[in-house]
Order: sequence, then structure tokens, then C-alpha cells
Amino acid sequence: MTIFDSLNPARPAEIIGSFRTSTHIDIDEAVERATDAQKAWSAVPIPARAEMIAAIGDVLASRKAELARLVTVEAGKILTEAGGDVQEAIDMARFIAGQGRAAWGTTHPCELPSKFGFTTRHPVGIVGMITPWNFPVAIPSWKAFPALLAGNGIIIKPSEMAPACCDAFVSACVDAGIPDGLINVVHGFGEVGAYLAAHPKVRAISFTGSVATGRKVAIAAMEVGPKLLSLELGGKNAAIVMPDADLDLVIEGALFGGFGTAGQRCTSTSRIVAHRSIATELTARLAECTAALNIGDPLDARTNIGPVINAESAARILAMVERAAEEGNGIVVGGKIAHPEGCEGGSFFEPTIITGADRNSYITRNEVFGPVVAVLEVSSFDEAIDTVNDCDYGLSSAIYTKDVNLAMEALHRLDTGIVYVNAPTIGAEIHLPFGGNKHTGNGYREAGSRGLEQFSETKSVYIDYSGRLQKAQIDNREALS
Ligand code: NDP
Repeated sequence: MTIFDSLNPARPAEIIGSFRTSTHIDIDEAVERATDAQKAWSAVPIPARAEMIAAIGDVLASRKAELARLVTVEAGKILTEAGGDVQEAIDMARFIAGQGRAAWGTTHPCELPSKFGFTTRHPVGIVGMITPWNFPVAIPSWKAFPALLAGNGIIIKPSEMAPACCDAFVSACVDAGIPDGLINVVHGFGEVGAYLAAHPKVRAISFTGSVATGRKVAIAAMEVGPKLLSLELGGKNAAIVMPDADLDLVIEGALFGGFGTAGQRCTSTSRIVAHRSIATELTARLAECTAALNIGDPLDARTNIGPVINAESAARILAMVERAAEEGNGIVVGGKIAHPEGCEGGSFFEPTIITGADRNSYITRNEVFGPVVAVLEVSSFDEAIDTVNDCDYGLSSAIYTKDVNLAMEALHRLDTGIVYVNAPTIGAEIHLPFGGNKHTGNGYREAGSRGLEQFSETKSVYIDYSGRLQKAQIDNREALS
């Protein structure tokens, strides 16, 4: 039996919990439990399923403070952001509950008389969910609630870096009255996720994580035969700053977008594409504000930036910054591993501003997933758009300008799944679709009204009440000659 510990990234001597790595037998049993429970659940009327999901939202709301604290000590988010993580799950429960009484399909006229067409949705069966650690309550909720509403059974494999948060989320579901066996958690490292992805009785896989792991999951899932597969992967998000932008707003947004969650959001602002005419002033003011940020214990209300997830991550971020310096980029502020007082052994990285990079630089092409922002200079709006789009990822982008025409032009031309105007690249709301283009995903969107797509099969139904055989495309149509 293999046991692993989940550690507080701010003080790794503090063990948040010990977890047993699930074996193949455990996973098989979880699939069987979910299969049994799903049969009854799929027969429950959809509005009644929705009421159960609303009840989960109420339980989460009543536990918001304790869950937020757990997110802080296990994933390292400062308390306000940890509260946002939990609130996202509460919001998602309420939104998805409402979807239970919304349209479930579409109706269509038919080309033949006395015939009617409509679509409806059906559960896929058992859904496997593989989730990262950076939104340890919100991301399981994005996946679990629509999957439950659609009538599925669930197996979640959370990151081994945030297993306690996932267990607490599932406990809230169970305490709200979700039937036994419908939601299951398996724990462990990549191998557990790979076995789940390849499991022949798991009909759909919903994965959020890095591009590299997403590829492995896709290969494992498809090896046993086609499955529904949704991939939400990395980002290299950029904010354009035009000469007429409100620089105070830009700086506030850049600090939140670049350094919130210590830069470990898939939507983090890691590139600022600034017009040359304001780039020097912007960089100087941004550097000054960055240097004033407090790094430290995320439980302390004075802290702006908590730890990165672990020591390997801090070392990886340092190596990326060093490579930028070797390429001749300037490190204006930050650039080092930090050792704040009272956080012995914690993994912290100074918020960092890099200049002198262009669109081809290593630091502007690769996801850092840490508190590192590169400022790139451009000479025109067109060059700004080309620079943002010249990237493998396509998750989130922003433009700061007071010119409504430029803003409209930008939102049409930016090749990302999410665009913000006069706001940072982070801050999605759960009732709009979430996801990205290019290497960021494979075309699905989570949340919003499209969140159900990856967890349900659409069925097209034709009802012919003419009492005779009618032939579509043949009766009363053009003759062959
Ligand atoms: P990883 O890709 O390292 O891991 C994601 C999940 O996959 C974890 O549960 C991990 O388990 C599991 N896993 C690892 N290897 C395998 C494998 N071979 N087969 C199946 N599962 C496996 O990502 P992180 O957890 O480090 O999260 C950060 C990444 O997530 C960033 O790239 C970020 O951009 C992306 N992300 C994307 C979002 C989006 O919506 N687009 C939202 C949030 C994050 P274990 O950790 O136990 O190895």
C-alpha cells in the first residue's frame, strides 16, 4: 500500500493529510459503484437532480470559510482568492441547478408533412475527471455539477497536490444527499489518472491540466476505443495596452492578473503587450508596485502573494527566468526564490517583471505558471494583435483602451476563447463558456450553457404521425433526370 502526504506549500513540515494511492482494483470498484448508482440516478427527473445540486451549493456555502482555509493551506492561495475558489463552486451549483429547468433540446420543422423533429440529451454513463491543484474546489465543481445534472456517475482523480480539497468537496456532495456511490474519488499520481482514462467502462474523460499531460490522457483514453474527451489545457495570456489606456487601471489589473494565485492560473497575465509610447512609464510604475507586494503566509491578511505549489515548481520558474536572462532579457524586479519569515521550507518566488523580450523569446512562448510577467513593446495596434496571436495557446487576452472601435476590432481579431476589455485576463464568471483555442483545448467549453455538452449525448428524434412511409430527400424532390 502506498501512502503519500499532502503538504502545506507555505510550511511543508505541516502535513494536511495522508492519502492511499488507489490501486487498479480500487478504481475498478469505484467504476462498478458508480455504474450501479448511475442507473437509478439517470431515472430521476432532471429538475429533481437539479434540486440536489442546489442543495450541494447550500452545503458548500455553509462551509465556505472552512473550505477556503483548506484551499489556502493545501494549495497556497491567499484567503480572499481561496474564498473565490469556493464561491465559484457555489455559483456553479446554483447556475447548474437552474439549468435543470431550462430547455433540454431544440425543436425543428421537418421537410415532410405530419412529421416533427426535436433533440434531447442523454447521460453518457460514467465520467472520469482528472483535475489540477490550482482550483481544487472550483474545477471539480465545473465538471461534477453538469455531469450530475446530465445523469452520469462520476470518478474524480484530483492532483496529488490537493487531494484534501477534493475530498472535502465530495463530502459536501454526500452530506447534501447525493446517492451512495454516484461520486467517487480515487487518489494518486499520473498512473492512477492514466488507468482511469483508459478504463473501458468510463465513457467520457474530462481533463484539466498541462498540454503535456493532456496529450498522454488523450492517447490513453483513445487507445481503448473512442470516448468523449474534453481537454482544458494551458495558457500564455496577454494584455494589450494602448496609448490611451488608463495606466492606473492597467497596473492594478496587471498585478492581479499576473500575480494572483502567484501566477498559477491558466488565465494568468504572463505577457503585457504595451505600445512603445507608454511602455517605459508603464514598466517603471509596474515594477515599483511589484516590489511593494508582500510575499508570505497566505493565511495572513497582509499577504499579497503566497507560495507556489512546491519546491520543484519554484526551481522550474527560476530556471525559466535564468534562461530569459541568458537570452539577454532584463529582470527589472524579482527573479529569485524567496524565503519569507515564518514560512520555513516554503516554496516562494518573487513577483518578477521581465523586459526586452519579443514574441519569439523563450519566456514569451512558454507557460511559466508562476509570478512572472514579461512586458513586450510594439509600435501599433496591428503589431499588438499579431504578437498576442503568435502563440501556441489561445485561452485569454485583454485590451486596455478607451477607443471603442479598437476594442471591438480587437475582440474580433484576438484568437483566444476569452477576451476582456479594460480588465485583466483573469476573472471568468461561471455562466459564460470557459475554454480556449489552439493548444489550450480540443474545442469543448466548460461552464456556461455549453458545460453540459461534454457530459451528455445529443439524440435527434423524428416523429412521423402521417401513418404512411415518407422518404426524406426522395418524396416530392427533384427528379434524377
Ligand atoms: P498536470 O498536467 O501536471 O496534472 C493535471 C492532472 O493530471 C493531475 O491530476 C495529475 O495528477 C494528472 N496526471 C498526471 N500525469 C497523468 C497521466 N499520465 N495520465 C493521467 N493523468 C495524469 O497539471 P497541474 O496539476 O500542474 O496544473 C497546472 C496546469 O493546468 C497548467 O498548465 C494550467 O494552465 C492548466 N490549467 C488549465 C485550466 C483550463 O481550464 N484551461 C485551468 C487550470 C489549470 P498528479 O498531479 O497526481 O500527477
